[in-house]
Amino acid sequence: MDNRGPRSALLESQRWLEYAFQPAGQPAPAAAAYGQQRHSAKVVLAGQNRPPKSCESDGVISDDHQPVAVYTADCLPVLFADVKTHQVAAVHAGLQGTLGGVLSSALDQLLAGGATPASLLVAIGPAIGPCCYELGVDRIAQMQQRPDLPALSWSQQQPHNPQAIRPQAQAHHQGVWFDLPQLAQGLLLQRGIPAAQIDRLAVCTYCMAEAGSSYRYNTHFDSGYQSRFSWIRRRA
Ligand SMILES: [Zn+2]
Repeated sequence: MDNRGPRSALLESQRWLEYAFQPAGQPAPAAAAYGQQRHSAKVVLAGQNRPPKSCESDGVISDDHQPVAVYTADCLPVLFADVKTHQVAAVHAGLQGTLGGVLSSALDQLLAGGATPASLLVAIGPAIGPCCYELGVDRIAQMQQRPDLPALSWSQQQPHNPQAIRPQAQAHHQGVWFDLPQLAQGLLLQRGIPAAQIDRLAVCTYCMAEAGSSYRYNTHFDSGYQSRFSWIRRRA
């Protein structure tokens, strides 16, 4: 990990773009456009969020050189890059936003701009992993009522994370251990993005990332947390 945070091999292969999943607490790039995030499905163009937080949105798309960003703590930062049109997008997708359709909303707008599922690359950055994300069984039951969702991934037994640098979350409410990045990946696959074009960084903010990365860790230990800015742009 360097000062840009963990790298995506998939995005790294594209000379025309720059991106980062910055460590928690670092400021966003000065030129970045990002919204007032509300766990919604609203995705806007970069110009609508310059200056930052000009409007409420959980995703921002750029079709020029403007960098677009999201800030997250345990939610998924999802970066999109279209190799055909060179549009880029940054999306904030927690469980609520993901279930609310924020990824589909971003995709719809990218496709409207000329992107195709076959030309899109997607990187899912540091977020709370199935090693630490306990969810009530009622939430699983609710999701299972939805025929539009892909197969859910969760387990009764907490998965051991051999890469943890801090203790994993302890069970607080006899829930199950839910794989949110897998849900996002499943939704993207449903929309026709090839599996080889979706990169999951598998960095758990609770037990693997730098201190202060996790909202939930802070909830458990009152240790403080700071937002992580993830951003992407077309190179000038
Ligand atoms: Zn973890």
